[in-house]
This record gives sequence, C-alpha cells and structure tokens, in this order.
Amino acid sequence: MAGRNPAYRMTTRPQHLFSVDVEDYFQVSAFEAIAPIATWDRFPTRVDTNTRRLLDLLAKHDARATFFTLGWVAERFPELVRDIARAGHEVASHSFWHRRVTTLTPEAFREDLRRSKAVLEAVTGEAITGYRAPSFSIVPGVEWAWEILVEEGFTYDSSAFPIVRPGYGNPGAPRDPYVIPTPSGPLHQYPLATASFGSMRLPGAGGGYLRMLPPALLHRAVREAAARGAPAMCYIHPWEIDPEQPRLAAGWLTRVRHYSGLATALPRLDALLASAAFTSVRDYRTSHAVAA
Ligand SMILES: [Zn+2]
Repeated sequence: MAGRNPAYRMTTRPQHLFSVDVEDYFQVSAFEAIAPIATWDRFPTRVDTNTRRLLDLLAKHDARATFFTLGWVAERFPELVRDIARAGHEVASHSFWHRRVTTLTPEAFREDLRRSKAVLEAVTGEAITGYRAPSFSIVPGVEWAWEILVEEGFTYDSSAFPIVRPGYGNPGAPRDPYVIPTPSGPLHQYPLATASFGSMRLPGAGGGYLRMLPPALLHRAVREAAARGAPAMCYIHPWEIDPEQPRLAAGWLTRVRHYSGLATALPRLDALLASAAFTSVRDYRTSHAVAA
C-alpha cells in the first residue's frame, strides 16, 4: 500500500474527499415521524461504537475525513468528537437537531447553526468552518441558507447532490467544487460524487447507494472525478455499517432504504479506501491552496 509508506505520503497530494455524517440510526430524516426529537433519549445509542469502527477503518488506510457531526451527538459524546479531531480528521457541522433546511425559517436555521457550531467548537477547541445540511436539504428554493452560513463563519458547504431525486436532488448543481457568491462573501461548495451515463448522472457518493447499488458505480464516480482533475466527495453514516441496530417500524420503502446492505457497507468501504487516496476537506484545501 503506497499510502502506508511515509516517504510516498509526503510527496503525494490526496485526490479525493471522504466524509462521515455523524448521527445515530434513529435520527435520520426518514424516521422523523416515528422517532421525533422528543423521543431520542429513549433509544439505545450506537453512534459512539459505530463511529469508532469508522475511525479504525480510516486509520487502517491512513486516510483522513471530514466528520459532519450533529451538535446533539457532540453534547452527549464529547470524548468521541475529541478523538475524531485527535486522529487528524476534520470536525464540521451537520446541524444541531437534524432538521431539514427546507422545514426551517431563516431565523431557525441560523439559531440551529449557531448552537451546533458553539458546541463543536467548545468540544474540539477548533474553529468549525464546514457544513452539510441534514438530508442534503439546501436545495433550490432555500438558497438563503448560503448567505447565513457565510455570516455565521462557515467557509464551505457540502450539501449539493447533483442528481434527480425527490427530496434532495439538485440536478442543476455543478459536479465539481465551485464557489457560490453571496452578498456576505463567497461560500465554497463540495458536491457529492456522481457517475455519468450519457447525459444522466447517478449517485456514486456512498451512503445507501454504496450499500444497494453495484460498487462499480462508486468506483466509476471516483475515476471520472480524477479524470476531470477534481476530487470525488464520498460519504457514509455510522449506522450504515451496523447490521445489529434495533429495527424501527417504518414504512416498507424506508425500511428497504435503511436496512439493505448494512453488512456489505464495511467491506465495500474498505475496498473504496484501498482504491484511492482520501482526505478531509480542510486538508484538501490546505494542500491545494484553496483560499478561505
Ligand atoms: Zn444526516
């Protein structure tokens, strides 16, 4: 493995981006009707153990990642968040309460953003400058969120998923990192990776697509990005590598999406991380001299 050779490591520039959305299995948007926020404390939590398994996997490949972390998780598991930072990964915000931006007023969005940033900064002692919206929910219609992110001290967002999909698809977004000008200053955008088939784009970034679609799609997205000289942004949730998690009584489509392929996610991630070099957004920006 070239990545384990220190001399090689000093001269290579990691090309791709890996990210983890740090939330527990009962906090996903698809469960919000059967597991509302008021009930979260009743569920047996598994986010600490599952996130540590991902830390081990990343260490095995000498890879770094950005951990978009819920403020709720950081409040309850500060030692986990400190261990993420100590391992050389970037801690960023995934909001405090995991409410989709499309369900919030600008004022409520700002308040949630401030609360998540404050707890993550208190726990890590580091500035938090990256954001990913719950369920990629900065979509056409809520562009006001970009300016608020800049005003609250964020330099980048990673919520654009340039695919056609009800709920969070943003098919008009560019596939590669770009800069969004706002009246308060620029915001860098790191879209989720896609694979192209003619004029069609398929999600190749990870998550449920990594568990349920052929792995070739993910590797294709990474190869295509490399051919464009761009980083592929991949992602996973800690609960996606946990076949033992308690089952919630959701509708059949949600159950298919949430519970399929849980046992395959870890070996597929292992293969992905072996196939290319991955790093965090923070380290990518430093090594590629991206201005803040
Ligand atoms: Zn999430």
